[in-house]
Order: sequence, then structure tokens, then C-alpha cells
Amino acid sequence: MQRLRPSCKEATELLTQREHTRLSLVNSVRLRWHLSGCEPCQHYVLQVDILTQSARSAPPVGQISTEAQQRLREALKREMNRETDREIHP
Ligand SMILES: [Zn+2]
Repeated sequence: MQRLRPSCKEATELLTQREHTRLSLVNSVRLRWHLSGCEPCQHYVLQVDILTQSARSAPPVGQISTEAQQRLREALKREMNRETDREIHP
């Protein structure tokens, strides 16, 4: 690896790209590398993933346990409520 971990901005761009197309192996690894050390981006990716899945009404990817998924959903729900509060009371 020549380059250091990508920035949050870059990671977010990769995530956006991933919505529309498959990432190259290198970008996919770099994205994961960034996520492994960046909590805000982990939250972001969870939201994107869950929103994408619910938008497509597809079953969750079977990579994490049901219990973990449940925890993630609850965390996401809290996040989303916070977002909603901000929108209602700017
Ligand atoms: Zn980040």
C-alpha cells in the first residue's frame, strides 16, 4: 500500500460510487480500510446500506448476525430520529 488511508471525503465519494457501480478491488479495499478506523464513516455506511436495502426491499446481506443487524437497526433508528428532529427544529 503506497497511499495512506483515504480521507473521509474520499471514503464518502467511494460510497457514493458504490451506490451506482461496483468499486474496483483497490477502491473497495481502501474504503474498507478507512471504515475500519473511522467511526463516523461506519455510521454513514450503515445508514446508506440499510436505507438502500429497505428502498429495494431486499433482505439484508447475510454477512452479519441477526443480533448485530438488530443492533444496527436500532442505532440507525436513533440516528434518523435525530435527523428528523433537526429538520423539524432547525
Ligand atoms: Zn471517515
